[in-house]
Amino acid sequence: MTPVPPLPASMNPFVDAALPGLYVHVPFCLSKCAYCDFYSIPDGTLIPDWLAALEKEAGFYQDRFGLFDTFYLGGGTPSLLDLPQIASLMKGLRRHFTFSPDTEVTLEANPDDLTAEKVKLYQDLGVNRLSLGVQSIHDRELAFLGRRHNVRQTVAALEAARAAGFVNLSLDLIYGLPGQSLEDWRKTLVQAVTFDPEHISCYQLTYEPGTPLGRKKVRGEVIPATEEEERDFFLFTSRFLEERGYLHYEISNFARLAEPRKDATPTLTLPPQGGGNPSVASLPNNAQFLANEEFCPGLINNQESFYRKLETENRKPHYSRHNRKYWNHTPYLGLGPGAHSFQNGVRWWNTPSVEQYCRELAQGRTPVADREILSEEQLRLEVLFLGLRTREGVSLDLLRQVPGWEKTLHNLKKEGLLEVHQNRAAPTRQGFLLADGLPLQFMDEGMGEDDIYYALETSAKIPHLSF
Ligand code: SF4
Repeated sequence: MTPVPPLPASMNPFVDAALPGLYVHVPFCLSKCAYCDFYSIPDGTLIPDWLAALEKEAGFYQDRFGLFDTFYLGGGTPSLLDLPQIASLMKGLRRHFTFSPDTEVTLEANPDDLTAEKVKLYQDLGVNRLSLGVQSIHDRELAFLGRRHNVRQTVAALEAARAAGFVNLSLDLIYGLPGQSLEDWRKTLVQAVTFDPEHISCYQLTYEPGTPLGRKKVRGEVIPATEEEERDFFLFTSRFLEERGYLHYEISNFARLAEPRKDATPTLTLPPQGGGNPSVASLPNNAQFLANEEFCPGLINNQESFYRKLETENRKPHYSRHNRKYWNHTPYLGLGPGAHSFQNGVRWWNTPSVEQYCRELAQGRTPVADREILSEEQLRLEVLFLGLRTREGVSLDLLRQVPGWEKTLHNLKKEGLLEVHQNRAAPTRQGFLLADGLPLQFMDEGMGEDDIYYALETSAKIPHLSF
């Protein structure tokens, strides 16, 4: 095992200092979803060993990372832990770390795990944000994705969370299922916003090698959405949610601007149970659908309006403060099997095996599998790649370091892919569609192959990047 990396003297010169975030990976799930390639095992017998190992790992870092202002309990399925286990985990971490009074504490939950008793305990333990893996509001789509919950359980979980007083809820949703129409997806979005969640993440379904869905794709048993359909889903989602007060602030993420309605009683209309295989559902004419104002009235085409609104009304969107640390290149510590960390230009990651993780820590060693020390050029590229996935964009000073940047910027503005606001260049909605294509435009032609390869691999190394 590689020892815990040393701290180099130089700080990342491209970003402001900010308090770090803490991530804990809970590597357990009751069963694997058909599309998922996150590290988790369906064997809860190792939970006690993992809890003991986790506290030991925290001990290695208590001097290096003293104070956090975000804490994200992700996985895997954190809501799988029973009440004494989750209480012991939080207590163990508090023995080693300090959390600022305004810490955002997020817990990822599966809807079928949430009971009134559990959400109450989460609150008592300081959890103030729940991220729910809702994915769809159609039972047949949930079954296709291999999720173990149904729509009724989602409704019950959201009701329990609101009843317990949670005022910061995030919903994860997936679009682009085989045969899914924009109308199917619109219904999911309509139902999702009924709950006024403070935050929504919308991910395009991907077919990862080695997953059941990935294998089905190879065997030709499912027909993935075409690039054109993916584009339609993406643009529709962005317009639909922005029209309803959600700022599209990162490629897959939306933060609500307004405060929750006082009468935020869920009025979800339950769809009929069962029936139909989404892979054989008929495809609608999406182009016609998109053109139909009835489905998306008064589209907001100019995202600048959101920023003016924020400035004049002095309102702060319900961002995921923790995930913004990844995108803003702020330091973070990841504990648990497979977790990644980043501080002072060094990235390191743990072994992705629960057994090995527990073994190393039981023997007094850190479970770090490897690390990389980023060169100044690599740091610059990461800030560029991460920044151009967000509506905050990147500082023009960063672009100025590339010969010919003004012409490139001018062309991208002309094509409607980038806009400049307060000395920063940020992607437009159309620009988001290019994902990593935009930063490639600002890479120095004289750059070494290693750096270009590094930049292209960036999204595989940073947590919570997907598209
Ligand atoms: S999607 Fe979430 S719940 Fe499903 S297997 Fe992956 S980590 Fe577990």
